Amino acid sequence: MTQSNGVAKPILILGGTGEARALAAALVQAGRKVVTSLAGRTANPLLPEGQVRIGGFGGVAGLAAYLRKQQTGLLIDATHPFAAQISANAVAAAKAADVPLVRFERPEWQRPSGAEWIEVEDMAQAAAVLPAGAKVFLAIGRQEIAHFFERTHCRFTARMIEVPETAPGNWTIIAGRGPFPVQAEVDLLAFHGFTHMVAKNSGAAASRDKIEAAAQLGVPVVMVKRPVLPPARSFENVQALLAYIDQAGLPN
Ligand code: NAP
Repeated sequence: MTQSNGVAKPILILGGTGEARALAAALVQAGRKVVTSLAGRTANPLLPEGQVRIGGFGGVAGLAAYLRKQQTGLLIDATHPFAAQISANAVAAAKAADVPLVRFERPEWQRPSGAEWIEVEDMAQAAAVLPAGAKVFLAIGRQEIAHFFERTHCRFTARMIEVPETAPGNWTIIAGRGPFPVQAEVDLLAFHGFTHMVAKNSGAAASRDKIEAAAQLGVPVVMVKRPVLPPARSFENVQALLAYIDQAGLPN
């Protein structure tokens, strides 16, 4: 698939994950023109190879207009599994602009044997199931911590890449970007004496060690299940997705 001027059409990767960066690197290496789109949530994002654009598109219509204008040959949704809005927008915009879409979707974490998980549908439920008096480690990022603000009979320590603009004064905030080795996670959980952890089932290899650490110490994990995404051709590993692009001959 080429543009009218004979130049290969660009690939747009919706990114913000380690796998999106791995895809960009491999596709640039293979000589493809790659643009990665980031939402712009973090001030100092890890930048992928190839071109980068930052900021929302303006909903489905905005993304579809971008795909048409850039004559995008392939859209890859490699966003975080909890970034449900942009994934839904990608499906609708790809259809509207008649651009093929593939999704990278990592496998979910499985409960380690003997571990206690309390599976919940969303963050509001996660906040509701914590017992009064719980000492909680929140490993959910920055965007959804407000769900826990009213649980004043629990004590919270939240870890995130950047310190949030607002959090109750009695919360402890740990700023840090993983991966954190499993022993460091065990030490952290034991040091604070957490009674519960709250996590999203992101499936990321880089953040799984906290789950292993909780299992080792017998700390129950309130595990937020993934949102359901509209169907799309999906791949569970980066190599399989790259092989598909090669075989499908997209988007040369
Ligand atoms: P979201 O709720 O699905 O998206 C909200 C809006 O943000 C979208 O409608 C879109 O705005 C914009 N947006 C999201 N991802 C974008 C991207 N890659 N490029 C351009 N615009 C984007 O997403 P979110 O949960 O806020 O996550 C934002 C980004 O952070 C994602 O790229 C995701 O991969 C990354 N991330 C998210 C999490 C998480 O737990 N949610 C964790 C780690 C990384 P418009 O409608 O204006 O286009």
